[in-house]
Amino acid sequence: MRGVSPRIAIVGGGVSGLVAAHLLHRTHDVMVFEAHDRVGGHVSTIDVTAPDGRPHAVDMGFIVYNEQTYPLFAELLRQIGVETQPSDMSFGVRSDRSGIEYGSRNLGALLAQPSNLVRPRFIGMVRDGAGAMSLGEYVDSAQFSAAFAENYLVPMGSALWSLPRGRVLDMPAAFFVRFFENHGMLSVSGQPEWHVVRGGSARYVEALIAPFQDRIRTSAPVARVERRHAHVTVDGEPFDHVVFACHSDQALKMLGDPTRAERDILGALPFQANEVVLHTDSSVLPRSRRAWASWNYHVRSDDEAPATVTYNMNTLQALEAPVTYCVTLNATEAIAPESIVHRAQFSHPVYTRAGMLARERHAEISGLDRTHYCGAYWGFGFHEDGVRSAYTVAKRFGVHA
Ligand SMILES: Cc1cc2nc3c(=O)[nH]c(=O)nc-3n(C[C@H](O)[C@H](O)[C@H](O)COP(=O)(O)OP(=O)(O)OC[C@H]3O[C@@H](n4cnc5c(N)ncnc54)[C@H](O)[C@@H]3O)c2cc1C
Repeated sequence: MRGVSPRIAIVGGGVSGLVAAHLLHRTHDVMVFEAHDRVGGHVSTIDVTAPDGRPHAVDMGFIVYNEQTYPLFAELLRQIGVETQPSDMSFGVRSDRSGIEYGSRNLGALLAQPSNLVRPRFIGMVRDGAGAMSLGEYVDSAQFSAAFAENYLVPMGSALWSLPRGRVLDMPAAFFVRFFENHGMLSVSGQPEWHVVRGGSARYVEALIAPFQDRIRTSAPVARVERRHAHVTVDGEPFDHVVFACHSDQALKMLGDPTRAERDILGALPFQANEVVLHTDSSVLPRSRRAWASWNYHVRSDDEAPATVTYNMNTLQALEAPVTYCVTLNATEAIAPESIVHRAQFSHPVYTRAGMLARERHAEISGLDRTHYCGAYWGFGFHEDGVRSAYTVAKRFGVHA
């Protein structure tokens, strides 16, 4: 079959590129190019040995999903036979500005309380399509209390999208609300049940790529993609099609001849780098141990300071260890250097109003000129979005799940 079927280069070996390869490799001649020496992208599992000598596989990138709002990803895990286990999604905030520390048993639990006026107002807003408003404008116009915005909405947005506090209120209000609706977080009848992959997220990547391992090149950063009349070249190598499964800014940089639409659309979808550290310094968690949650958000005094979140991996992954494995975003200076196990830099999409319009123009650049685009950034930035974007690309090749 290979040799006669169309040759497809997939640039990027995160969930989006790997799911695209999973869907296409049986009918097409695919080759995944991954810049790093391992595939997975934001799926990053680190093997550690605890002080008691026991090994653990700790996630410092992608951690959780749920059955209800990740239907494609959940089905994929079932198809490839990967075991999962329930996770704990408690959310806590410690504020240097207001001095408060609070916790809620589930991400979104406070938003969903029937007594919380935000719920009907939020839902009403989706219906009214308060389209062009920023979250800040909406918060002002709906007269939410400053304390609610300050201590709850902003920390939640900041933690979810790893944005500086000051940027959360610039997010498009409709996007924010649609996310909470889609993720069942405004539902009174029950919050989704979150899961992690047993033994670390890397276990699902291993199972997924097993059938097409020979179709992956690691340590293979692509520098230039050029469209010719009857083919594309990827660093000079000819293919029939290219699928960009990296980030928008990375794709734009690789294109030798971006069209006006590619420049406009990809250019309106920015990313922001975040420093992520796996460590065992529990002093970054709330002072009171009783206030420790799985997601611990630290509100700092400076609005433009990047979001500071510490994930308690012992509770998220149910690790039984004599130390607390923490993953902290953007607060490396506060972590005792001797407690650092691993450091990484990951970039998150930044959600703006211009970006919302650009996302709707996906079909203007994808599937044309032998060029295709996938990536979680085409949706809300989460794993399900990456999987869905890969399905959309596969459909263009006549492949359905
Ligand atoms: C710390 C952290 C925690 C997260 N936790 C969750 C979570 O719990 N649940 C959830 O749903 N989502 C989570 N996310 C969101 C996550 O970003 C998405 O779920 C998803 O993994 C993104 O996948 P992707 O394929 O779009 O991009 P990526 O995973 O970033 O993959 C892109 C790939 O392209 C490669 N690449 C880039 N340039 C080139 C080039 N020139 N040549 C070749 N290869 C290139 C990169 O090396 C990378 O491997 C988390 C993200 C982070 C950073």
